[in-house]
Formats: sequence, structure tokens, C-alpha cells
Amino acid sequence: MSTQVIVQPKPVQNAFDRFYAGSRGAPGTFKVSHGKGIFFWDTNGKRYLEGSSGALVVNLGHGNARVRDAMIDQANRISYSAFCSESTDTLCKMIADLAGPGFDQAFPVSGGSEAVESAIKLARQYAVASGQPKRWKILARMPGYHGATLGAAAVTGDPDRDEMFGPIMQIMPKVPAPLSYRLPEGFDVSSYADYCADALEQQILAEGEETVLAFIMEPVGGVATGALVAPDNYYSKVREICDRYGVLLIFDEVMCGAGRTGTFLAAHHWPNALPDLVVCAKGLAAGYTPLGAMIAPNRIVDKVAESGGFLHGHTYAGNPLSSAIGVAVLKEMLDQDLMGNATRMGVVLRRKLHALKDRSTTVGDVRGIGLMNAVEIVEDQATKAIFPAAKKASYRVSEIARELGLHLYARRTASGKFGEWFMAAPPLIITEPEIDLFM
Ligand code: PLP
Repeated sequence: MSTQVIVQPKPVQNAFDRFYAGSRGAPGTFKVSHGKGIFFWDTNGKRYLEGSSGALVVNLGHGNARVRDAMIDQANRISYSAFCSESTDTLCKMIADLAGPGFDQAFPVSGGSEAVESAIKLARQYAVASGQPKRWKILARMPGYHGATLGAAAVTGDPDRDEMFGPIMQIMPKVPAPLSYRLPEGFDVSSYADYCADALEQQILAEGEETVLAFIMEPVGGVATGALVAPDNYYSKVREICDRYGVLLIFDEVMCGAGRTGTFLAAHHWPNALPDLVVCAKGLAAGYTPLGAMIAPNRIVDKVAESGGFLHGHTYAGNPLSSAIGVAVLKEMLDQDLMGNATRMGVVLRRKLHALKDRSTTVGDVRGIGLMNAVEIVEDQATKAIFPAAKKASYRVSEIARELGLHLYARRTASGKFGEWFMAAPPLIITEPEIDLFM
């Protein structure tokens, strides 16, 4: 007797679509097909302008020939090795060189969260190697965003994630600095830097200064605060406080680094407040491959290396293919003066965004630096009152924009507590006539 196996057809679903619908503003039927320059097309042939470079990633736009050729050339040579390849060596040296004085070495990884994890681990090993094993706490700003893996999530200041993930998120202390522009009622803005830096100092003292390892912050706030730039003296005050208490300062430049703000590191805008460690990702490979980097000075790397080595690594960290792509992206950025273009086009774009205020009462604050800008969406421009959470205004704005052929990365915290905005952050190759397509 023969047994017949009947395979029932099953409805196959796509968890990417299910989990991201809404937050990435993409309904289930919307699928991306291809891209060229500052545009991409969906599978129905409709064209969209990259108004936010994806999630501030595609700095060179799509289909860059130099990057494609470098990718093919490297694939023809070798695509993976457990050893340091020629292209990995070149990439690390290029990144350290662009990072400038104070940063001697780069450790390549495969994305932003991995880069943050690496900085956390390196800082901890450095403290132990320096005879300060009690230091383990990493202070972070509330609100802020540092990534999705557990270590990076633990230093992320997001009230919604705190509530959802509970102790996982709460293990690291957050500094309740009101670093979004929404300061307490009647607040004197001229005392902003003192006020926020004081909050950091108080937190260090409250935690016990001998236990605090590092303070991590985005020098230009990204998804959690919408292109927020603090007053210049805030950065130097933070640096002073970290030095006073022997706390390492880590800049998370996953979003604002790699040229987006008009300098290779956003830190270069505040040269007297350079951090001890910096992490970059997104724009480093401009979307052509996952790539991130932790950048550190010799004094930290050497100490950890001498004390037995770095107890942390990733299979794909520094793989030859990603490295070759990173090198091509950086060369293209330098040869085309894309950082200069980010500075120039940022001025043009912000002028246009400010003009939006006259055309819509739901446009609140407009802010940013280089081509990292945000437009806040408010219920009432005069009072800056934010929309009730249920309205999900930012998602609605991104839907309308998409209907008009513009992709906007729009963000909100689930509670809406810290406001809503969309990022006006096109690829760094954008030209002035193309900026007119925004509005
Ligand atoms: N840090 C910052 C400031 C970010 O904006 C992000 C991502 O948006 C991350 C870390 C995490 O990077 P990734 O998503 O590549 O892991």
C-alpha cells in the first residue's frame, strides 16, 4: 500500500511588513523595486524622492557606479576572511584619518547597534585594565536612541521601550535632561547648557561617581529628538564634567556622523569638546552594505590590547566586501566634496523649511545642521501643543508625502511625549534645483 503525502498550501506572510507597517509608514502592498540617484521606484512604477535618505543612510543616492565597481572587484578577489584584508586595513586607516587628531584607530562592525555595543565593551575593559573595576554604569540621555541589541537598548532613553522591556532597558541610568527644546514652563533658555549639564553632574553624584563608566550621547539628536543641536557651550560643559569625574564620553554618531552634518564627525563642530570614543554607521557605507565603526584613541585601544585583548567581536566585522564598499563610499564623498555640499544645501533646505511655517499652522520647530534637519509637527504652532497620541500625526504626514511621491522618515514616541517630526535629510548629492522638488 503506498502512502500519499498531501502538502497543504499555506498562506505565507512577511514579518518585515507586519512589524514595520506604520512605524516605517509602509502598508503591506507597497514594495520597493529599484533606485537611481536621489529617487527610488515602487513595484507599480511610481517614483519617490528620498527626502530622508531612507533612515539617513543613502548619502550617495542609489546606483553609484564607483561603489558598484568596487563591490564587484572585491567580490572577484575575496568576499570573506576571518583575517584582516587589504581593504579592511585601508578602511580602518581612512576612518581614523578622517576622524582627525585624538582618534587613532577604527574597529569596523556591521551596523550602529554593534558599534555601540563595541564602545560599551571597550570602555568597560579599559576601566578594568586601568584598575577601576567598579566603574560599569553608562549614563544616557532621556530621550535618546542608541540601538536595538540588548546593550545598546539598555542605554537607550525611551519611555515606551522602558515600559515594554522593563528591567532590560532600565539597568542603565538615564539622565532626565530635558534636551528636546520643550523646556519647563517659563524656562530661561540662556541657562539651558548649565541646566542640562548640571543634570548630568547630579546623576553622576547620585549614582556614585566611582561606579560611573561613561556618558553616551548623540551630539545631534536623531530619532528620539529630531535633529536637535544643543547650544555650543553645552558640549564643553559635558566634556568638563566627564573629565572632573573620570567618566568616558562616548558620542553616538550612527546617524549624524560620516559627513551628514557637513563635517566627517559631528564632533568636529565642537573641537574643544571631543569625546573619548565615537561610533558611526549608516552613512559610512551609504546603504550599499551594513557597516559601522567604533573609533578610539591609542591610549584606550593599547591599554585594552596590552591587558589581554578585546573580549568582543562579530563574525562579519571588517569583512573584505563591506570594507571595500566603505572605502569607495568615503573616496566618493571626498572627491565629490559631499560634506561641503551638505553644508551648502543644508542652508538652502532650512530656508525653505522655515518658510513652511507660514503655510501651515501644524509646523512647529524647524532645526538641524548640514543635511540633518527635522520639522516638528504640532497641533498648534502658537503654543507648540503636540497632537494627541492617537492621531499619530507623523505617520499621517509620511503617508500623505508618499502619495505625493516623497519619502519622509517620520518619527514619534508611542506616547507622543517628546513630540513628532519628519526628518528632512536628503542624500548628500542633492542639488539646489532638486531641493525645490521637496515643496
Ligand atoms: N544609534 C543611533 C543614534 C541610531 O540612530 C541608530 C539607528 O537608527 C542606532 C544607534 C542603531 O543602529 P542600527 O539600526 O544600524 O543597529
